[in-house]
Amino acid sequence: MPVIVWFRQDLRIEDNPALYKAMLSGQPILPIYIYEDSASQNPWPIGGAQKWWLHHSLISLKKSLAEKGLALIILKGNPVDLLPAILKTTHSSALYYNQCYEPFLLKQEAELKSLITKLEADITVEVFNAHLLLNPWEIKNNQGEYFKVFTPYWRRVYQYLTAHPPRRFKKLPKHLQACDFKHPSNQSVEALELLPKLDWAKEFSSVWQPGEAGAHARFARFLKNGLSHYAEGRDIPSKIYTSELSPHLHFGEISPGVIWEKLIHHQDIKNAEKFLSELVWREFSYSLLYHYQDLPIANFKSDFDRFVWQPNPSYLKAWQKGLTGYPIVDAGMRQLWITGTMHNRVRMIVASFLIKHLLIDWREGQKWFWNTLVDADLANNAASWQWVAGSGADASPYFRIFNPILQGEKFDPNGEYVKSWLPELGKLPPKYIHQPWTAPETELSKAKIYLGKNYPHPVVDHNTARKKALELYANIKKID
Ligand code: FAD
Repeated sequence: MPVIVWFRQDLRIEDNPALYKAMLSGQPILPIYIYEDSASQNPWPIGGAQKWWLHHSLISLKKSLAEKGLALIILKGNPVDLLPAILKTTHSSALYYNQCYEPFLLKQEAELKSLITKLEADITVEVFNAHLLLNPWEIKNNQGEYFKVFTPYWRRVYQYLTAHPPRRFKKLPKHLQACDFKHPSNQSVEALELLPKLDWAKEFSSVWQPGEAGAHARFARFLKNGLSHYAEGRDIPSKIYTSELSPHLHFGEISPGVIWEKLIHHQDIKNAEKFLSELVWREFSYSLLYHYQDLPIANFKSDFDRFVWQPNPSYLKAWQKGLTGYPIVDAGMRQLWITGTMHNRVRMIVASFLIKHLLIDWREGQKWFWNTLVDADLANNAASWQWVAGSGADASPYFRIFNPILQGEKFDPNGEYVKSWLPELGKLPPKYIHQPWTAPETELSKAKIYLGKNYPHPVVDHNTARKKALELYANIKKID
């Protein structure tokens, strides 16, 4: 009797508890991946940039499993319909998979478990944690509630994991026992048609290597070149001092337990702890999503429901295309479009600009990021957008409005980052790089910049926009 391993956001073979458990069972293993189509009614279907990632990650997983002697079955549809039928047909004795925490997936899982019970067959269903350091329900404050403030949460997690380090799993043997089952709808990765029709993702492969090997290579590169600069350097967008592990973590190509284990006793304590605290922001976001399932659609702080957003399609378009006239914002948005990622400091600046300068609802920004980021993650994206908006738990206050000029001057003083994404500003001296409209006409023409022609005038004036945002914010407070 075979056992089924259902792969989801855990596209790795090492340190994968579900696969490990299957190996321990000593029974033939049937690995399955199900690409959810519209039948599953997922309210957050995978976005464009992540489809590209998934295509390559599945190819990598399929290859790694094949090297162990297992053939990955790839299906398209609704797991709730497909899995019970396969369990039955193959007379499998167990279904093993790793936990996902998105509200829709939790519901789906409950439905699946109930259907499997109704099969009246002796099938064990076992679920493991491979995605997070801790399940969101494991950490509570002294009142038995979930944490809404990060710093005490971080202290508690740190303390807890020091006493109970994340579980790790030994390397798998060279060969695993395969189950010889041919599903009639098994398809190739290519048949899922995940790659974009227009080649807008053509630069992605020069930046990213999706899959387990790529994740470990990136982690090794970070340990060698990034970690020692992390605490201070993580805010400099022109340098690669952060790990760039977020898409790998999202797809489960590297285990957070492996990262924790490697860094918790690292001799460079200052940088290692700063890095681990960022990793724990991820845990915090998942905890918020788990306990407040409307996080991606509703303000965590309900007084923000009274905020009068000012929808403006042409402002939104200018922001999406990186044509706002504020170079640090535009550089971030172009980096996102071209590479599927954006540096964290710049994500904060562009998000603040959309919400507080353009007065556009944070959910519009969240949606755009969802489609364009390779690391788009329901928990991290929603929690971060709400953090910037001021509507989230432990959020940056609404009245803290980033000045895009000062932010640029502080974190990209020579304009290296801006120039790498906005070649049209390549010849502008650093003095003007974050506010080209203040440059004298002679400087602009020397740099071949024609404002309004090859680079836009600012869509809004910073001081006027700031004043308006603060007035609107004061209105929501007055009613209280
Ligand atoms: P590192 O600095 O190397 O951090 C290591 C890991 O910790 C990251 O890979 C990530 O998993 C986690 N992490 C770091 N910072 C945060 C954070 N603030 N919140 C949650 N986890 C964090 N991150 C996503 O993974 N997916 C998203 O969809 C996403 N959307 C964001 C939207 C906005 C508006 C903002 C401001 C931030 C968003 N982030 C998101 C958080 C953060 O920007 C990225 O995780 C980070 O830039 C990834 O780069 P890195 O892997 O080099 O991070």
